[in-house]
Amino acid sequence: MISSIRLFFFGTGGSWPTPQRNTMSVGVRINDEAILFDCGESAQTALMKSSLSLMKIRKIFITHFHGDHFLGLPGLIQTMSFYGRTDPLEIYGPIGASSVLGNLLSIGYYSLNFEIRIEELKGNSSVDFGDYSVAYAEASHTVPALSYSLIEKDYAKLDESKIERLKVPRRLLEKIRKEGSAQVNGNAINLEDISAGVRKGRKVSYSGDTRRAKNLLDLFKDSSVLIHESTGEKSNEEKVTSYGHSTGKDAAIQAKDSNSRKLILVHFSPRYNDIKPIVDEAKSVFQNVIAAEELMELEVNIND
Ligand SMILES: [Zn+2]
Ligand SMILES: [Zn+2]
Repeated sequence: MISSIRLFFFGTGGSWPTPQRNTMSVGVRINDEAILFDCGESAQTALMKSSLSLMKIRKIFITHFHGDHFLGLPGLIQTMSFYGRTDPLEIYGPIGASSVLGNLLSIGYYSLNFEIRIEELKGNSSVDFGDYSVAYAEASHTVPALSYSLIEKDYAKLDESKIERLKVPRRLLEKIRKEGSAQVNGNAINLEDISAGVRKGRKVSYSGDTRRAKNLLDLFKDSSVLIHESTGEKSNEEKVTSYGHSTGKDAAIQAKDSNSRKLILVHFSPRYNDIKPIVDEAKSVFQNVIAAEELMELEVNIND
């Protein structure tokens, strides 16, 4: 069961790092485990300033192989090695992941005491991790790129009075939740017998780099939080779209049309000293908008 989902913004800028913003990286802590979406250049130093331990990172999902989304990987991995990591690390990415990462991770002289498993994801599908899954779909960028959604599984709520009346031992509750039934004193107790309805799972979606694309609405549907790129605003719209990006308004339309509940804007072009015009145009379309700040943290609540 997942009790806590917390987001960490380690890099919120697009294209190249500036003194104000690192390039893209978003951490998610799920109970005691952590995953990263993208790993821009300074992700590891941002991680060290946060309460998220880099040793807890089990999985990294790369959206695409533009430098602002993955160049932090070799440094992070070498630090993990210095820290004495032995747990395997899984890295997921779009087509090309094996060759790009294979080359990248063989740079320089260092030794690794842990296994790195690289998996290329194609098309639209999802990977199951037990209490949650990560779904993905092809984004509309200038190179092969994916958008992701972390989806917590729906969770059966239990009725204490029914549990008591049927004398179901507490040690069997998780088994009944997972498997649907268990034997209690020779009788089968089914989940329906002790259920108090379903708690809908939380969902966190991350666009990576993309133009506004209709096919992503399915992936983003009903997100608790949609983290969406917003490289520019309407005065630069033509350029933004031609480079495979979204404006603040595009991001807001995606949030609205996917019935997402909260929109967090990221990947601001370093050409903007002031991101207010990007945020304002998003707010004109969708109310619940936050502009991500470096090292911002946010708990994803059950009712978000
Ligand atoms: Zn980018
Ligand atoms: Zn890109």
